[in-house]
Amino acid sequence: MPFAALGLPAPLVKGVRAAGYTNPTPIQAKAIPMVLSGRDLIAAAQTGTGKTAAFILPILARLLEGGERLRALVLTPTRELAAQIETNARDYARFTDLQVGVVYGGVPIGPQERMLRGHGVDLLVATPGRLLDLQGRQSVSLDEVEVLVLDEADRMVDMGFAPDLRRILKLLPDKRQTLLFSATMPPELNRVAKETLHDPNRVDLAPPSRPAAGITQAVYPVPKHLKTELLHYLLRETDTGGVIVFTRTKHGAARLAKALERRGHSVAALHGDRTQSQRERALSDLRRGKIDILVATDIASRGIDVKDITHIINFDVPHTPEDYVHRIGRTGRVDALGDAFTFMSPDESKDVVGIERFLSRTIPRVVMPDFDYKARPVATPGGGRERDEERGGRGGGRGRSGPGGGGAGRGGRDGGRGAPSGGVRVVRHGAGSAPAHAASGGGSSQGSSGRGASEATPAHGRRPKAADGTRRGRRRI
Ligand code: AMP
Repeated sequence: MPFAALGLPAPLVKGVRAAGYTNPTPIQAKAIPMVLSGRDLIAAAQTGTGKTAAFILPILARLLEGGERLRALVLTPTRELAAQIETNARDYARFTDLQVGVVYGGVPIGPQERMLRGHGVDLLVATPGRLLDLQGRQSVSLDEVEVLVLDEADRMVDMGFAPDLRRILKLLPDKRQTLLFSATMPPELNRVAKETLHDPNRVDLAPPSRPAAGITQAVYPVPKHLKTELLHYLLRETDTGGVIVFTRTKHGAARLAKALERRGHSVAALHGDRTQSQRERALSDLRRGKIDILVATDIASRGIDVKDITHIINFDVPHTPEDYVHRIGRTGRVDALGDAFTFMSPDESKDVVGIERFLSRTIPRVVMPDFDYKARPVATPGGGRERDEERGGRGGGRGRSGPGGGGAGRGGRDGGRGAPSGGVRVVRHGAGSAPAHAASGGGSSQGSSGRGASEATPAHGRRPKAADGTRRGRRRI
């Protein structure tokens, strides 16, 4: 079905075509007519499904009908997501004279005030805190807002934005259309939704328990102190495009990025302690192929839209199954293929079981036949020991011991003395450095080994990299 059949005006159809889209994604086909009808909407859609265009396009259509300035407001939890939504909206609106703007914290407020007070905008994308600051300084009036979007609403609530949301809702006209996009519906959000939405339509296309098709998932059992080594080994032995490695903490991300850099990888870190310009540079370097690897915390996982991410690596098992689905949603976007690998130290196996229960499936276990799972921690040039790199994750201190002490031994107690956790059956696929996929033969993991093994077949061909493990000069969009 073409975009024109959805009832969108010609300049917008031209805009999406220029953006390279030929047909609407399922959520767009379903949601665009609903939003055009003017009714409120609750949509459960995971990132990577095209949900941004699903709300931006019908909003732009409405704005084209004319009216006062600032008639549409999109609230979103992070600066990166806000910037991306604005970029998309500008793209789709390029054949119209609609003005689109974005405001978020972490950068000087002056230019944002000048933009809002100067030419003004029809559609504003904002993070809640900065919007309230601007409203408090009377730089923006929300009196004429006709459409409100709460994007990644569950994450906004998780991040403690519920009070800000309530304050913003009070500043908006009662008569308006509200669109809520959220992967999950935690109780706090449910309360906000009940207060805010009137007789909403519902779209439930891609529940969060189902990562987009095309993502190959695998769990790599590994003692905690060997995670950095395993990552280096995998990056060296695997043919990758862009890679995002997730850690649980900012500190962990910074340390891991440094450790990878020391091993010759081109890498940047993206986390809350980085300045806005460092964060933007990291994303644009990844987009342009200037770096291969981005080490990021969960805050960065929401909505990051970088094409050609071939691998997501969960260096630490995420806190919640929802975070897992969001993290791995950074690869396999729309029709692309991607691999999502999760490093699981013995103390994280319970969290992986929780994720598997949430997904209603077993994720195949993989061991690398040539990797030394019995290695002891090695001293780094900085004087520390490798296992220090992993500190910061939940339970990060558990495997620690004095130099040359029982770190590996502890891993062994839980996981078979350095070897992957008990019950893993290694199934060799081919020779050399190809990963051996293994389905669990027992223990806490359920499921059939045949299915598991075939699902773990990598989506991308493997070929060794240069001896130093790096692969410069590859081009990506
Ligand atoms: P989103 O879920 O909104 O973050 O979108 C994920 C990615 O899909 C973005 O890179 C969009 O540019 C892209 N996209 C959105 N809609 C379409 C479409 N109809 N056809 C192809 N790509 C799309």
